Amino acid sequence: MKIGIVGAGVGGLSAAIGLSFLGHDVDVFERAPDIRTTGAGFNLWPNAGRAIYGLGLRKPFDKIAVKLDSYIELDTEGRKLFSTDTSQWPEKYGAPAVGLFRPDLARTLGDAAGLDRIRFDHDVVSVESAGQKAICRFSNGEVYEADVLIGADGINSATAFVNLVSVFALTNWPAYGAFSATEAACLSAAQSLRAELRPGGVKVVNVFFGPLETEWYQAVPPPKLAPAALARSVVQALQQGLEDVFVGDIAEDIRARLAVNPKALERELGS
Ligand SMILES: Cc1cc2nc3c(=O)[nH]c(=O)nc-3n(C[C@H](O)[C@H](O)[C@H](O)COP(=O)(O)OP(=O)(O)OC[C@H]3O[C@@H](n4cnc5c(N)ncnc54)[C@H](O)[C@@H]3O)c2cc1C
Repeated sequence: MKIGIVGAGVGGLSAAIGLSFLGHDVDVFERAPDIRTTGAGFNLWPNAGRAIYGLGLRKPFDKIAVKLDSYIELDTEGRKLFSTDTSQWPEKYGAPAVGLFRPDLARTLGDAAGLDRIRFDHDVVSVESAGQKAICRFSNGEVYEADVLIGADGINSATAFVNLVSVFALTNWPAYGAFSATEAACLSAAQSLRAELRPGGVKVVNVFFGPLETEWYQAVPPPKLAPAALARSVVQALQQGLEDVFVGDIAEDIRARLAVNPKALERELGS
């Protein structure tokens, strides 16, 4: 498949390495003139390290990364708030907690992705679908066509803004009352953002989900949603151009019951 990736940051370069490894024909477009050479210290947890190992970069990564044996949080006065021993994390989690120099990481990923496949000075100004193809236009007037286009253009992505939000943003679940209230605020902000971004052609996707199969929800009884299923739904929503998506049985159930009788649902959640 021919795949275009917008952005040569950590995400875009990692995707390029993985997809090339799988045999796809990958092009990366970056608006900056070169691979990122600025930045300071950067911490990565074992999940990131394991992903980098999975891309076949264990050797170069271990060379630039310094293993951290403890993690300490201080308040603004320098008093210790929290500390944890991370020395056993490689055995426990498959990779160490590390500190590294951000430009070293960018260079390592850039070299592995292949600098010749990164087109620098290419600022994407619009993306559109044309049948089975994705078309991408640049500020210099060039046009690129691919089977799939991946937006990895960072936190201010021009491609899509995805908001993962608990379905309890829509109706408060008193067992997690304050959490539900913050999710409701988050949903409200996303709706405002959607209105603000629409004229610029930027989509805001709300993906509503119920309790997940994660540590945070361990006290909640099943059914729970696997994080991988949530991730798949995000991709589907983006592919289908959806704005609001409900993922899993709980989220779907709440959506349906809110449509029928919101007061009954409120009473039931509060009982
Ligand atoms: C001060 C600071 C400290 C941080 N420290 C840590 C840390 O210690 N550990 C950690 O895990 N995370 C840290 N983060 C978060 C981390 O930097 C981000 O999560 C990560 O960089 C996201 O990677 P990305 O590839 O999605 O986006 P980015 O790294 O932002 O890359 C996006 C790329 O897309 C390019 N681009 C944007 N728009 C366009 C366009 N229209 N056309 C073409 N190219 C475009 C940009 O130039 C950029 O190169 C920190 C963030 C900040 C701001």
